[in-house]
Amino acid sequence: MVELRFDEAKCEQCEGVNCLVRCKHLNLDVDTAREEMRKIINGQHSFVLDRCVTCYACEEYCPFGNHPFYLIVERQEQEGMLLAPRAITNQWINLCEPVGRYSVGKIQERALSLCYIPAFTDLVGGKLFEDVAASFFIGPEFFCNVVYLHFARASVIRERLPKVVENIAALGMKEVIFLHDECYGSFKSLAPAYGIPVPFKVTHYFEYLYDRLKQLSGQLKPLNMKVAYQRPCSSRLIPETDHYVDDIFSLLGVERVNRTYDRQNALCCSAIVRLNMGPEGRDMANDNQSKNIEDMLQAGVEHCVFNCPYCYMALSEKVAAKGVKPIHMIELCRLALGEEPAKGVMGYGRYQ
Ligand code: SF4
Ligand code: SF4
Repeated sequence: MVELRFDEAKCEQCEGVNCLVRCKHLNLDVDTAREEMRKIINGQHSFVLDRCVTCYACEEYCPFGNHPFYLIVERQEQEGMLLAPRAITNQWINLCEPVGRYSVGKIQERALSLCYIPAFTDLVGGKLFEDVAASFFIGPEFFCNVVYLHFARASVIRERLPKVVENIAALGMKEVIFLHDECYGSFKSLAPAYGIPVPFKVTHYFEYLYDRLKQLSGQLKPLNMKVAYQRPCSSRLIPETDHYVDDIFSLLGVERVNRTYDRQNALCCSAIVRLNMGPEGRDMANDNQSKNIEDMLQAGVEHCVFNCPYCYMALSEKVAAKGVKPIHMIELCRLALGEEPAKGVMGYGRYQ
């Protein structure tokens, strides 16, 4: 039986109730946070369940590796909450149902997971991926299902994720390089939190890029750019990967500017807030996005570097309209190698 492993005893000892006190959307003092956390643990209704915008940040804020956000999602579902209209929730569940719409390349010891995101197929060319591009898989059979955290549907994850792990393992590779931050978060945070064993090596594409860039270091031309980095919500599940952003930028001659809404104070792209919370969510999303872009402008950046394709979809046109060029991390690396930009929706060529 797959179920969330949440250690209530840790919360009893937690002086600061870091998760809820540090939440940027709740503004709670320690006493209120403690009271609401107790209610959530005991299965009583808490206003936190209504006001959570599913930004995932409290997963990063908990210093004990407990899983406050996963618990919130479990409770939201137990209360039958709909965070989006039922039709949209069901559409998402049906869209990613594993019914045979997948594609698998020539699998080697290492393989690339393209999640269920066709835009990745445009990005995995050139020198960076020449040894591994043919060894890939893509499709709902391999889709990590983390998105259902945004829809109060932990049950879909509990049901589908063990089978996804089986499907990937059956391909026979030893190591999977995940191009979607959310997939890596799924196998490194969500699966252990639910006691689901993962029998292959799980590698974030940042780590792969960093190692590959070091191999190609003689061909790199410093970009001498000031950039803003857009942290995705999923990176809150795996904050240990954030240092690779700095490491890669250092190899590329890129400065990650100091700005208000980065690192632990990052603002998510707010795409899901808009989708899930009606007119109130739309206003909140617009406000978050405006603050974030204004922050980039004040820091004087030329580019906004994206990790997650959904952040790119939510913000690329908006930052471009303000004169900041959107670029995916892989395209940034290709640029430093002097390669032609990729075609497709995340190809840098669109903004040159
Ligand atoms: S989930 Fe973590 S941060 Fe939140 S109260 Fe429990 S131990 Fe503290
Ligand atoms: S997921 Fe975000 S909005 Fe929800 S409680 Fe955690 S920090 Fe707050």
